[in-house]
Amino acid sequence: MSSELAGRVRAFIETKAIPLEPRYLSRPFKEMLPELRALRDEVKRLGLWAPHLPMAEGGLGLTLTEFAEVSAVLGESPVGHYLFNCNAPDIGNQELLLSHGTAEQKMRWFAPLARGEVRSCFAMTEPEFAGSNPVWMDTRAVREGDDYVITGHKWFASSADGAAFTIVMAVTAPDAPPHRRASQIIVPMDAPGLTLERNISVMGEPGSGYASHGELRFTAVRVPVSNRLGTEGEGFALAQERLGPGRIHHCMRWIGICERAFRLMVTRAATRELAPGEPLGRQQAVQHWIAECRAEIDASRLLVLHVAAQIERDGTKAARDGVSLIKFHVAGVLQRVLDRAIQVHGAMGMTDATPLAYWYRHERGARIYDGPDEVHKSAVARRILERAGMTREKR
Ligand SMILES: Cc1cc2nc3c(=O)[nH]c(=O)nc-3n(C[C@H](O)[C@H](O)[C@H](O)COP(=O)(O)OP(=O)(O)OC[C@H]3O[C@@H](n4cnc5c(N)ncnc54)[C@H](O)[C@@H]3O)c2cc1C
Repeated sequence: MSSELAGRVRAFIETKAIPLEPRYLSRPFKEMLPELRALRDEVKRLGLWAPHLPMAEGGLGLTLTEFAEVSAVLGESPVGHYLFNCNAPDIGNQELLLSHGTAEQKMRWFAPLARGEVRSCFAMTEPEFAGSNPVWMDTRAVREGDDYVITGHKWFASSADGAAFTIVMAVTAPDAPPHRRASQIIVPMDAPGLTLERNISVMGEPGSGYASHGELRFTAVRVPVSNRLGTEGEGFALAQERLGPGRIHHCMRWIGICERAFRLMVTRAATRELAPGEPLGRQQAVQHWIAECRAEIDASRLLVLHVAAQIERDGTKAARDGVSLIKFHVAGVLQRVLDRAIQVHGAMGMTDATPLAYWYRHERGARIYDGPDEVHKSAVARRILERAGMTREKR
């Protein structure tokens, strides 16, 4: 990425996004929409829109590694990715539609998403089934003529409130081998039989609009078979494909959060006095936290960029060990850095005077979504052990 581009993105975050924070942290997302839309228009005017998308689709055409660097800068504001139209889950849906959508699907669903006219969500997890086992679910899409009729119950569909459509994972071939049972199907959110039952209260906050997680009920929802992405039974493979680059995106956003938390922590430690002329930063405990955070953030950045380069060079499958390593490692670093930064701020760290408390609440999920820590640790360790001769577990 050119340093000129990085500088322009940073300037926007520092002069436009960060000053918005006091209002963003104290108001429902929906109330902030007019202001956020005006800033999105400004990002477009500045020629910085959708850095991850190819130029032909109205983006900046950055490679995964280049986008990773931008993502870290955007992560320093809670609304950075949203303002540049590269926020999850839309970014994953855009990439999926772009690489696997038919011409009609691209025109109807991808184009307005890429222009930022609509939002979308992704509905895979079900409250009654362990999301850690992605091939086990109950939602069914039964073929009737040229339609699918979908029935099921999903939750934690991020940003479902106000989304124009969801991509739902549903079983289309119950008797097929587990990894060939499900398909991904586009469903308009206003389809008869689809209801957003609630925005789930997460850490005491149900949120609204983009900043929410929805519980969805599908009751005989009818959509044309042409709404299916890819071939029948390809749903799991598409989900895996989405998750490789998706984890790079998340990890670099978390590194951006860490950088901001680190700056806040250092500034506070340097200026808060425990007694006249006695700054908090003179305490050895605080000095050690600062040193540990710096080392952990720098190491995380290098590891994520290394895995991003590996994905670009050899593909997601070849990079899967690295993808698992960064997912649990950087999520842990994020949690530790936020925790130390809050501790240094004392009671103030619990308030909304900084974004630390917001991130502490909202990013606890980092160790759970896109595969909990334990699943990634076991997966990568199993492959290492099998390469060393351990026999394969029968599953
Ligand atoms: C903030 C947030 C946003 C989300 N957004 C979306 C979304 O947009 N769309 C969507 O479909 N889903 C979303 N999810 C759901 C997420 O994908 C699931 O929560 C995740 O897959 C884990 O599934 P589960 O919650 O059912 O936990 P379970 O599968 O019940 O697992 C519970 C715990 O068991 C442990 N565990 C599980 N498997 C193993 C194992 N093999 N070895 C050891 N321990 C294990 C882990 O500690 C895990 O946290 C989101 C979740 C959160 C928190």
